[in-house]
Amino acid sequence: MKIIIAIDGYSSCGKSTLAKELAEQMHYAYIDTGAMYRAITLYFLRENVSLKHKEEIEAALKNINLHFELNPETRGSEMYLNDENVARNIRDMIVADKVSEVAAIKEVRHFAVEQQQKMGKHKGLVMDGRDIGTVVFPDAELKIFMTADPEIRVKRRFQELYPTNPLITLDEVRHNLEMRDYIDSNREESPLRRAEDARLLDNSEMSREEQLKLALQWVAEAKEMKQSLA
Ligand code: C5P
Repeated sequence: MKIIIAIDGYSSCGKSTLAKELAEQMHYAYIDTGAMYRAITLYFLRENVSLKHKEEIEAALKNINLHFELNPETRGSEMYLNDENVARNIRDMIVADKVSEVAAIKEVRHFAVEQQQKMGKHKGLVMDGRDIGTVVFPDAELKIFMTADPEIRVKRRFQELYPTNPLITLDEVRHNLEMRDYIDSNREESPLRRAEDARLLDNSEMSREEQLKLALQWVAEAKEMKQSLA
């Protein structure tokens, strides 16, 4: 029996780490919806799309084709924008600085959500983002809302970015996370919030193994619940 696991939460809480590990354990697909908003942002930046003009945004979205492909070496799924592998480009700070503004646009969200819902048609999916349990899959069998101490999140993101961007500073990372959390939580269109039925996972003091163990326990409970209702 396959279920949908929706993981939401603030930036750099370790959502993708947990989502990837869960997907691997369960032989489920993993979809990183943040990568989709980042790829759209990359396209808008390259094409100088004005975020103030609805028509320009709609026309640009018509030219965007997004898909994920599995990298056989890393076994990770990578984002493709119009058949170009943009897995690295979408992690640039220039994209991170703009993505929340782009993701707050109604037309952009409709474009992305429609594709995300299609991906979940046959279940067997772990999806992470900001609105997965509230908007994309409000009926997901398991919803997890992740959070962690802000300074721990800054350090984690810094360590992740530093190897490819040794000029980056802690202040820059802190500012970016604060800004994204603020925009994501306060936008009009599907703001980041915990679904009422989402389990709260604060991993400030948890190891990767501990959080995976807890999440797998929740998966078992969710499956049991589904079975009992069938
Ligand atoms: O998950 P990640 O940090 O890569 O997401 C980048 C940005 O994309 C977020 O800060 C947020 O603005 C946006 N996003 C969103 N809804 C999602 C996933 C990401 O608005 N489901």
